[in-house]
Amino acid sequence: MANPETKSSLIMPGEATSTCWSCGTMRAEHFCSACGKVQPPVPVDYFTFFGFPRKLTVDVALPEREFYQLSRKLHPDLYSRAEAREQEWSLEQSSLLNDAYRTLKDPIKRTEYLLRLEGVELEEQSKSATEAARATGKIKKQVVAPDLLEEVFDLNMQLEELKMQKKMGEDDPALIEEVGRQKLELEEKHEALLEELKRAWMEWDQAVDAGTEEDRIRIRNKMLDLMNRRNYLRNLVRDVTEVLES
Ligand SMILES: [Zn+2]
Repeated sequence: MANPETKSSLIMPGEATSTCWSCGTMRAEHFCSACGKVQPPVPVDYFTFFGFPRKLTVDVALPEREFYQLSRKLHPDLYSRAEAREQEWSLEQSSLLNDAYRTLKDPIKRTEYLLRLEGVELEEQSKSATEAARATGKIKKQVVAPDLLEEVFDLNMQLEELKMQKKMGEDDPALIEEVGRQKLELEEKHEALLEELKRAWMEWDQAVDAGTEEDRIRIRNKMLDLMNRRNYLRNLVRDVTEVLES
């Protein structure tokens, strides 16, 4: 989903310059810096919520301790005797905090989220998406790299064969062994992709600091490709495991 509006409509840290609703001082972040009152949430992305740059390595790791501190300060129970709107804001801020923290602390989720902010969407490869596409008669858009699909073509065929055999109650130890061997290979490939992805995170961060728009788009697209491959392999490993264990 490309959305050229997203970037310009975001409020960056330090730009959230409305005044405190209670005392009129320029507000800082989630609380007024002068009187400490909770502030209404502003529409920001998760990185901005914490005042982080839009990066993928160490800079965005919010220490757990800080998260819990903020979490306690925003806890709706503390506002049970406050004005109704303060109660509402603390609730909204708390849920924003939880979503933002959960998303950013996991490097894969963080990457997925950043890619979306940067205007690209991962391919939906869940079983439910496949089934939904089948049910509506639509063909699921396949954007996984053709070379990867070719690589796993034999395995996919063998997997179908194995499924069929299991259904018929047949037993083919040689096929089971072969599929098991390929599963190990898939897991290795999956690991290698993760390493490549880690390198791309560093490249991205460098590009944010000193790269051109072109650099960022190139790295963004590379990460999208790696993530799509990774998800595809992860799902395939899951399917293979399911069949082997059935
Ligand atoms: Zn204030």
